[in-house]
Amino acid sequence: MNNLTIPISCIGGDGYEFEECIPLESIQPPDTPAVTVGSVCISGRFTKFRESYTFRGRVTGAYHGTCCQCLASADVPFCVQVRWIFEKISGNVLKEISRSQEETDFFYSHPAKNASAPAAQEDVICLAPYVWEEVVFAEPYTYVCGPDCKGVCGRCGTNLNHNDCGCDKEKESQHLNDNQGLSALAKMFPELQSDKNKE
Ligand SMILES: [Zn+2]
Ligand SMILES: [Zn+2]
Repeated sequence: MNNLTIPISCIGGDGYEFEECIPLESIQPPDTPAVTVGSVCISGRFTKFRESYTFRGRVTGAYHGTCCQCLASADVPFCVQVRWIFEKISGNVLKEISRSQEETDFFYSHPAKNASAPAAQEDVICLAPYVWEEVVFAEPYTYVCGPDCKGVCGRCGTNLNHNDCGCDKEKESQHLNDNQGLSALAKMFPELQSDKNKE
């Protein structure tokens, strides 16, 4: 069931408050990759000006992914401010007209599945394709479970958010410094090092 289809008869001179939470998959267009968002909430207000209708509000939810630092599952909340303008174009379909990216025809030739059929000959606004688009565009490339994620221990693999494994990090880094590496090379080629210092 998709509740993102709004009859314009609801939008009077005082506007129309709108709030709805739905499973994102209910508005996923066919043949598109899934987005790892459970439910998405849309809240805002419709206003009418002559024959056009504006929706101002926000789209919120959370992406579910894997933290790139500690590999635990991570929820990354999002909140996108939106402003969509709809105008009647033909028949009983209203279409958004004022966006810079005019790729919205795709959605009309591929109607969202499970869209509830409006009453016959009723003018409606379908928010579903625009909600879907915003959620896809806002998806992050990488996930981090939180700003304080400590990651995993490079030695034993323990998730340091949950346990302190006890590996001695200072000893480890000291060991690396004492190790051959660049300092050993410099000792082997003192001329090279002095040349470098002159530059
Ligand atoms: Zn993490
Ligand atoms: Zn460790």
